Amino acid sequence: MLNVLKLGGSVVTFKDRVMTQNEEAIRRLSGEIAAAGPRRLVVVHGGGSYGHPLAKEHGIADGFKSAGQLVGFSKTRQAMVVLNCLVVDALLDEGVPAVSVSPSSFISTQDGRLQEFDLDIVKRYLDSGTVPVMYGDAILDSVLGFTILSGDQLAVRLATDLGAAKLIFGVDVDGVYTANPKMAKGAKLIERLSLSQVKGIIRIGEAVSTDVTGGMLGKINEAQAAVEAGVSVQLVNALEPGRTLRALRGEPVVGTILTR
Ligand code: ADP
Repeated sequence: MLNVLKLGGSVVTFKDRVMTQNEEAIRRLSGEIAAAGPRRLVVVHGGGSYGHPLAKEHGIADGFKSAGQLVGFSKTRQAMVVLNCLVVDALLDEGVPAVSVSPSSFISTQDGRLQEFDLDIVKRYLDSGTVPVMYGDAILDSVLGFTILSGDQLAVRLATDLGAAKLIFGVDVDGVYTANPKMAKGAKLIERLSLSQVKGIIRIGEAVSTDVTGGMLGKINEAQAAVEAGVSVQLVNALEPGRTLRALRGEPVVGTILTR
């Protein structure tokens, strides 16, 4: 049984402080991953305050426009290598056989979307008993020159293509709410969210009963493909101790389950 765990940039970093890791969260989550026991697991983490500020400054997501961006492209990649190193070190400290696998060294996109990508090396790491640790990355693109591959898109494709039983999104809120819980006081947690509800939410012009914006909209938009492929998709608050461990173990936990 394979699990894919996506740890949001809002979990592993402080998004409002440039290049600042959430060391306490990374250490605790590494302990939870270790406590979940030996099993097939791929970890994907977001960029948070490492990749995003640099990518934005140099317009990396919009693609190549001028040679002046090239150092910015390299700096974005490098910032993600640094963050990945911190996550992998923390996992190693807890005795998890984590191996860093750099997406941009073997994956490219076409107009921002992953096409065919050869997962042979990831499968072989899994077969060897190690835990591949990947991340959202600045990546070569056949149409745009380069772009940003989000950790969310990557995690979903890994889960579907590797036939994962479960895809867990660890975020900084308890799950998907009826409105952004950071803005709307009365927002309610949706414990089960079906794809038909999701389609209602993201289709422009339809009655919108749930206000899902920004990062969360992109996340559940991407996650639909995994649900359709039969992967069990769950969102939990990874900043709350123990919830990621419960999700990894398949135990009942506060969060949102996406269903068909
Ligand atoms: P990450 O970077 O950790 O992957 P994001 O920050 O991109 O995650 O997305 C999570 C954020 O989405 C939450 O912190 C929250 O502020 C926001 N959000 C917007 N709408 C909703 C909603 N309806 N339910 C939950 N979170 C929402």
